[in-house]
Amino acid sequence: MSFIFTPHEPVSIEVRGTSDRFPVHRIYCVGRNYAAHAREMGKDPEREPPFFFTKPADAIVPNNATVPYPPRTNNLHHEIELVVAIGKAGRNIAVADALDYVYGYAVGNDLTRRDLQLEARDKGRPWDTGKAFDKSAPITAIVPVAQCGHISKGRIWLKVNGETRQDADVSELIWNVPEVIAELSTLFTLAPGDLIFTGTPAGVGALKVGDRVEGGIDGLDVLVTTIGPSEA
Ligand code: MN
Repeated sequence: MSFIFTPHEPVSIEVRGTSDRFPVHRIYCVGRNYAAHAREMGKDPEREPPFFFTKPADAIVPNNATVPYPPRTNNLHHEIELVVAIGKAGRNIAVADALDYVYGYAVGNDLTRRDLQLEARDKGRPWDTGKAFDKSAPITAIVPVAQCGHISKGRIWLKVNGETRQDADVSELIWNVPEVIAELSTLFTLAPGDLIFTGTPAGVGALKVGDRVEGGIDGLDVLVTTIGPSEA
């Protein structure tokens, strides 16, 4: 048996402290999981069950890379987020057991074509064109739990060209990491290699060509991304 073309290489992410890499399976994202961000998006931050959308695994962009300004948007937004890296398979996971499924944590930027996302949202259409585009998921190295412990608090921040845009604390998550894992695992069978972007705090805003975007969470690496010219 041979393939009709060479299969794509598995997408993977560096792991701090080792030359081994974390192979990415799926990327799940939580919507509106900080109250102040829900309000800035024009929504009531009631504690309704978390809701999810996805990005393709090959949307991953490594740290210190340039992301070309994406097509079909005039309103590319940054969303700095705590990312949970899942290390073992499970479904219908109890909140009390959920942290056993975490391999590590990283800092991610849920890049968003806000104009396309809001148009889809307001028309009741899927979010894929706004959220799941090429190179929409810059991420740092994953830090194993063995190194950083479980992250339930700590500063989460983002700067554009040195100016602070987002500055909050992970403890402000409406649904915390164990609760997100438990809920997600009732909808999908979680697998090693899954990533969960847990939602962004307030302060999202537009990026332009040439911007240097830096963001971090206490205990994890600083994510640095440059926005480059659109691809031809
Ligand atoms: Mn997000």
